[in-house]
Amino acid sequence: GPADREAEPSQWERFGVDTTTPHSARVYDFWLGGKTNFPPDRAMALAIEEAVPSIKAMAGENRAFQKRAVRHLAQQYGIRQFLDLGTGIPTSPNTHEIAESVSPGTRVVYVDNDPIVLAHARALMVSSPDSRTTYIHADLGKPAELLGDPALTATLDLDRPVGLLMIAVLMLVADEDDPWGKVAALRDALPSGSFLALTHPTQDFDPESVAKVTAAARAGGMTLVPRSREEVERFFDGWEFIEPGIAPVMAWHPESEPPADPHAAYYWGAVARKP
Ligand code: SAH
Repeated sequence: GPADREAEPSQWERFGVDTTTPHSARVYDFWLGGKTNFPPDRAMALAIEEAVPSIKAMAGENRAFQKRAVRHLAQQYGIRQFLDLGTGIPTSPNTHEIAESVSPGTRVVYVDNDPIVLAHARALMVSSPDSRTTYIHADLGKPAELLGDPALTATLDLDRPVGLLMIAVLMLVADEDDPWGKVAALRDALPSGSFLALTHPTQDFDPESVAKVTAAARAGGMTLVPRSREEVERFFDGWEFIEPGIAPVMAWHPESEPPADPHAAYYWGAVARKP
C-alpha cells in the first residue's frame, strides 16, 4: 500500500488525506525522521523549528517518555492491555512492541482520527500467539462511540486494568471542545487499577518561544494549545500519581543519569492510577 513508499500526494488522496494543508501527525512524523509528510507539513515544521531549534530532540524525548511509561506499567504493575489514543504515524518502537518485549500476550488498541494513520494501520495490527492488536479510526472527542466500538471490546477486557495512553495528543483539542470532559469519560469507563499515562506540551518552561510556536501553528490553521502544569493535572482528577508525579518528561524515570536540564523538552508528563 501507499504506506510502504515515500509519501507522494496522489497516492494518499483515495484515503481522504488532504495533503495541501499542514497536519499535526505529519509535522510530528517529520521531526521524528519519518517519511509520511508533505511540503506544507515540512514548511510548518521548519517554521516551528525557527522558534524552537531543538524541537526535534523534544519530539524524541516525548517518544522516549512513552517508551519508559509503557515499559514501567508492564513491568512494575503487570499491565497487559493498552489503549493508545492519538497513535500517530507508526514509528519504532510502537506501543505493542514495547509492551511485548516485557510481556508476550499484551493487547493493544490503537486509535487515531487521521486518515493518514488509518492508511498505515496494517503496520500496527498484529495477531500472533504472543499478542493481539487492533486499530480503530475514531475521535477521542466522542468517547462513548470509541469505547463501544466492537473492535475495542473484542480486544480489551474493560473489567481488567487498562493502560490508557494519551501521549502528545490533547494539545490538539481546544478548550472549547472540553478535553477535560472527554478524558473524564474515558477514565470513568476503566476499572480500578487502570493507569493514565499522558504528556502535554507546555509554555511553563519557556513562554516566549512557545508563544512563537502557537503563533506559527495558528498561521498554518493548526490547533495547538500548550497547557500549564495545573491544567495538565486536571486531566488526572482523582487518580493517584505514581512517582515522581507530574514532571518534565525528561525527568520522569530517566533511563540512566538524571538529565542535566530536564526543562530542555517543553512537555509535562505523568502516570497515575485509578484508585
Ligand atoms: N502519540 C504519538 C503521536 C502524537 S501526534 C506520539 O506521541 O508519538 C498526535 C496524534 O493524535 C496525531 O496522529 C493526530 O491525528 C491524533 N489526533 C489528534 N486529534 C485527535 C482526536 N480528536 N482523536 C483521535 N486522534 C487524534
